Amino acid sequence: MRGQNTGRGQGRRGMGGGQALGPGGECVCPQCGYTVQHQLGTPCFNMKCPKCGTQMIRKR
Ligand SMILES: [Zn+2]
Repeated sequence: MRGQNTGRGQGRRGMGGGQALGPGGECVCPQCGYTVQHQLGTPCFNMKCPKCGTQMIRKR
């Protein structure tokens, strides 16, 4: 198993904090940790966790 994860390619995320929360994030349930893709035009706090019904929050 060699030649993998040589450090190139896509998947460059999670680096360089400080950027504003833009579209394309995730919403997470603070209760059970369920994560869903953030829907444009629908704030996370307007969604409820499908598992436990808790109001979801924006994941950073
Ligand atoms: Zn939940």
